[in-house]
Amino acid sequence: MSIVYSTLNKFIDYWKDVEPSKNAYKILSERYFLKTPSGEYLETKWADICRRVARVIATAELVNNPAMESKSDSEKLDEVKSWEETFYNFLLSRIFIPNSPTLFNAGMGVRHELLWKPIEQMTLEDYWEIYNSRNHLHMLSACFVVPVEDSIEGIFDAVKEYALITKAGGGIGSNFSRLRPKGSFVAGTHGQASGPVSFMHVFNSAVGVVEQGYRRRGALMGILNIDHPDIEEFITAKEGNDGEKVLKFFNISVGITMPREELLRLYMEDGEIELKHPKCNTTKKVKVRELLKKMAKNAWKTGDPGLAFLSEMNKYYAMYPEMVIESTNPCGEIGLAPYEACNLGSIDVAKFYLDGQFNWEAFGEATRLAVRFLDNVIDVNVFPLEKITRAVKDSRRIGLGIMGFADLLYLLDIPYDSPEGRQFAADMTAYMAIQGHSESNRLAQEKGNFPLFEKSRYYREEGFAPFAMGMSKFDDELRQVLSESKYGKRNVAVLTIAPTGSISNIADTSSGLEPNFLLAYVRYMNKHDGGKEALFYVNRVLEQKLDKEILEKIKERLVEKGSLKDLPEVPEHIKRVFVTAMDISPMDHLLMQDAFQRYVDNNISKTINMPNSATEEDVLNIYLEALKLNIRGLTIYRDGSLQTQVLTSAKNLKTKDAPKVQFFVLDEKHKLRPKPRKDTLRSVTRKFKTDSGTTYITVSFDDNGEAVEIFLSNGTELAEAIGRLSSIALRAGVSAEEILEQLRKVKGTYTPALAKEIKSAIDDFVELWGETPAETIDTFVIDGTAKTAEEIEKFVTANGLQWAEGYYIDADGNTYCPSCLSKNSIIKQEGCTSCRKCGWSKCS
Ligand SMILES: [Zn+2]
Repeated sequence: MSIVYSTLNKFIDYWKDVEPSKNAYKILSERYFLKTPSGEYLETKWADICRRVARVIATAELVNNPAMESKSDSEKLDEVKSWEETFYNFLLSRIFIPNSPTLFNAGMGVRHELLWKPIEQMTLEDYWEIYNSRNHLHMLSACFVVPVEDSIEGIFDAVKEYALITKAGGGIGSNFSRLRPKGSFVAGTHGQASGPVSFMHVFNSAVGVVEQGYRRRGALMGILNIDHPDIEEFITAKEGNDGEKVLKFFNISVGITMPREELLRLYMEDGEIELKHPKCNTTKKVKVRELLKKMAKNAWKTGDPGLAFLSEMNKYYAMYPEMVIESTNPCGEIGLAPYEACNLGSIDVAKFYLDGQFNWEAFGEATRLAVRFLDNVIDVNVFPLEKITRAVKDSRRIGLGIMGFADLLYLLDIPYDSPEGRQFAADMTAYMAIQGHSESNRLAQEKGNFPLFEKSRYYREEGFAPFAMGMSKFDDELRQVLSESKYGKRNVAVLTIAPTGSISNIADTSSGLEPNFLLAYVRYMNKHDGGKEALFYVNRVLEQKLDKEILEKIKERLVEKGSLKDLPEVPEHIKRVFVTAMDISPMDHLLMQDAFQRYVDNNISKTINMPNSATEEDVLNIYLEALKLNIRGLTIYRDGSLQTQVLTSAKNLKTKDAPKVQFFVLDEKHKLRPKPRKDTLRSVTRKFKTDSGTTYITVSFDDNGEAVEIFLSNGTELAEAIGRLSSIALRAGVSAEEILEQLRKVKGTYTPALAKEIKSAIDDFVELWGETPAETIDTFVIDGTAKTAEEIEKFVTANGLQWAEGYYIDADGNTYCPSCLSKNSIIKQEGCTSCRKCGWSKCS
């Protein structure tokens, strides 16, 4: 093998000996280790995953490497083994991790013995068997775009394609603008069309039916162009979030098809756009200001819709106008032509910091090796549709990105929200573009061009650049590399910045290009005696840089506040560098997105975080600023806006349908919370006469015959107070026996006598209502660890939760993580919903 990664190898050697953290292992064992259908673990170490994935990806060299053909079998074997070992160490070091579908599905269909057999014993036949036995589950890509045509046949073909891709575990985006608007004439039926939004519900339901387990939820992107006659209905499509009618699997975005400068001009001049559709004779004019205001209002409320600048994507698309990008994937980082798919992977840039410096050379070599890896993924991928296989092989699009950016800036002492931070981002990404594109050019010489190359602008257009540039010292060098693309290119696009949710947790680094959301958090570990121990996790860079004594003093407040901002003990320079997502102004978020996008040929997944106090006007201003920058998509998230969506139907849950379970629920402040009271309960009432009057005692019982409420009335405050406090204690899981024990200890005559009467009321229950069969009572603690599907189901039913947008929500609008059930721990980052307690991420 002629390619040497000498500087990179030094970093690989260092990092492959660093074990993944407990937290990383928890995620691996909950979701990533391969299991038999009966649940037995086939993998128990990160190294096992790395071996399986590296081995499968290396087999691509047998089929996509023309130099192999002239080699003898033993040379071929050496070559494949050598690539397996290179990829294995690369993955083991966690410097590079591919997207979750690759980790999940590489090796599907292959005999298990072959996946972890010692490499010395591997034969060429073994590698061929691996390659040839991949089955229909061997789907390694994350992103898909499916076109939706304006006919009943076309729509239902697409629905079927959605079902197949969802089943395979991919996220799908579509542009629904071809569908004729609501109310327009349908020939042959004398009927009226129901419009794109109503059809999106069909897609949503289809995905809901085929959705598999809870490892990956169905994730969809629906786009409607800004000039479609139904755009106003579309903007508010997710407004009435009642858990039933809402398009729960869809992120929605308004497609901006005109140049962004044009949209900004129309806004400034208070101009109008014409809403029109070729199948519809009537047109309508709408003020751009009204439309944008409406979008801002809804985004302020719920985060939807986002904006997808399709014109910008096509401006920089190497196949435009031959082919057109009409939609993105669910998180927005990849714009695709119809039936294209893309596989992604990310490099942890924080791992290249050594001795006070960022090692450019090693980072460059890692970029090159990762490009080869992702290019190989294309040749071992199995897609559910032949049309996708063809489109992917024609373009060979890959999406290499980064993670660990925030941690790297901490290490370099550069604030994220500063000109230096943005400059570093631009230089780093420009350098990555130089290495990534030059490797794609080189691979074309070694393995051949992507089949559409001669139709591409790389071949046809002198000086074509797939991004804006203009900010880095590397611009000239990058232009040089891009101009060499005219001699050949392996991939239509190379870079992206994708959400890295779970894989950044596996790499023990910060997520994608995003700032950290938290600098410290608490997780609970089981102790031998059955109790729980609270463990503090502090950002590893902060731990290195902040004085130990100060850290010890502030850590509890840091967990609570989530930011160093208001902690007087912390030195100013540390505060300035260790900023979190909520410390950073929306404009600084936006400028960082611009800096990255200038050097990325695919798109970027980033969320513009706004404080809860932000107004609709603030959101609108961010839109206008975005129109002046090099931005291809916009997702905003106002802190707390997920929690304030009010549900109406949750209240209609029938109490008799709730299972007989009892939960001790720890909420975000680690306190016991009462479980909800049902509307109808069985009860026993007793009359208790004393010298001072009569007390009525009513004890109510749940379906298990457990006392859950005590109601006391004799016209005094004391009786009512005892009743109310006892009831809330009962509902929080304190036993009736313990409560009565406390009441008996009260010095006086009334309360201990009352305790005795309450005891009698409880004893009367069996006599009056009969024996309730003993039920097993489940108890578990909400502490940031993943729950089983069964536990989740019970919890959700018992608490009357509704499914909304990828998480659960209660009648008061509180959110619950779909993995660990933590309350109000759901945030939006990287254009994606994630849990800050357990690291769960909707897209990973
Ligand atoms: Zn969680």
